[in-house]
Amino acid sequence: MSFDNLGLRPELLRAIADTGYTEPTPIQAQAIPVVLSGRDVMAGAQTGTGKTASFTLPMLHKLAVHQNTSTSPARHPVRGLILAPTRELAAQVEASVRTYSKHLALRSTAVYGGVNIDPQIAELRKGVEILVATPGRLLDHLHQKSVNLSQVEFLVLDEADRMLDMGFMPDIRRIFGFLPPRRQNLLFSATFAEEIKRLSSEFMRDPQLIEVARRNATADNVLQVAYPVGTDHKRRLLAHIIKNENLKQVLVFTNTKTGANRLAHQLVHENINAVAIHSDKTQQARTQALAEFKEGKIQALIATDVAARGLDIDDLPCVVNFELPHSAEDYVHRIGRTGRAGASGKAISLVSPEEKRYLSDIEKLIKRTIPLEALPGFSSDRHDVAPSKAPYREKRGERQERAQPSVAQSFAKAEPETTPEPMMPADLGMAPVNRRPGQKKEVAALLLPPRGVPATE
Ligand code: AMP
Repeated sequence: MSFDNLGLRPELLRAIADTGYTEPTPIQAQAIPVVLSGRDVMAGAQTGTGKTASFTLPMLHKLAVHQNTSTSPARHPVRGLILAPTRELAAQVEASVRTYSKHLALRSTAVYGGVNIDPQIAELRKGVEILVATPGRLLDHLHQKSVNLSQVEFLVLDEADRMLDMGFMPDIRRIFGFLPPRRQNLLFSATFAEEIKRLSSEFMRDPQLIEVARRNATADNVLQVAYPVGTDHKRRLLAHIIKNENLKQVLVFTNTKTGANRLAHQLVHENINAVAIHSDKTQQARTQALAEFKEGKIQALIATDVAARGLDIDDLPCVVNFELPHSAEDYVHRIGRTGRAGASGKAISLVSPEEKRYLSDIEKLIKRTIPLEALPGFSSDRHDVAPSKAPYREKRGERQERAQPSVAQSFAKAEPETTPEPMMPADLGMAPVNRRPGQKKEVAALLLPPRGVPATE
């Protein structure tokens, strides 16, 4: 199928051609005609499926009737409102709006917290047709009356599941109060929790349900592997993987901001150019880190879930879960950072004995087994943490790392009474690793469908 058959205006087709995309992705092929028909849409689409264009293109098509080049702000009321959970996603969505609207006389801007509000007020006062916003900052603008939403015709909730997780629902409900009742509503979510369905029934009229991937499925073109490792060896294993696999660009997830800072610091001491991003960093620091990561100047970007949400990095080859997320759905979001738009990717999880239950939760959610096998060539028995390599801990007055038990010993410690022969995969109900000392093993790998197999089910 080509974009030409979707009924989009020529200006949009030209903008699409400029990007080099030749055919719509499944979510685009399904959602665009429905949105053009005027119906509300509730779409289940993973990140990386091309969902942004699936709402941006038809919205721009419909709003194009309002194009004008008047300098009067009154001629440029907000007509399309897109709510997104994070600053990064808001900025990226707005960048897409600009890309696709470049041949149209429509204005857009993004407003989000963490940066000075004054330039945003100035921009809003000039008038914009399309506004992309995070909920909290939009409410600030509404209370300051720097924006009026009474002429909104399109409302998009992007990554609604994440907005729910981040506690934005009260803000979103407040924002609904500023919108006119007659409008078209679109909701995009990677997963459909009950609460998302409840929310949609509150504000959508008979929405058309579109799903392009299995519910809670992970991208089919992502190779998922997991390595058993004691917590104290994770940093060394990660450095080993980055160096051995010659990873030039890897996004690493930690569960906490302090964990992200510490890991970045430690990797730098391993001569790996690493930077942490999380919500305590200034917007400027985050934007700069992301730009340098994209340019290949930063090898490892260490991020928390909130900071990484919405990052769109073309061809990101590898994502590492330094710690497994406690919510299985976060795993789906995390690994969605790689293998985007048909490219193949790899997701590596470092799993400590304490994290086994999170791994089983993830496997239940994605309805797949993630093979858990020791990485050949890496031994957690080696004690290589010289005092000079642990300055971060020393600085903070923490005790220095001692020689650590092996992985098997760590797992044995975790469940001594129930696991007399503590082998990690067997622990997890999977085929045990029968490896003789020194015997090489294949890298654990779940062979997934080949590239190009559509995720549509
Ligand atoms: P999204 O799911 O909207 O975050 O998009 C994921 C990535 O796919 C982005 O880098 C888009 O630029 C890219 N993309 C969107 N539509 C297409 C398409 N029709 N063909 C190829 N790539 C696309």
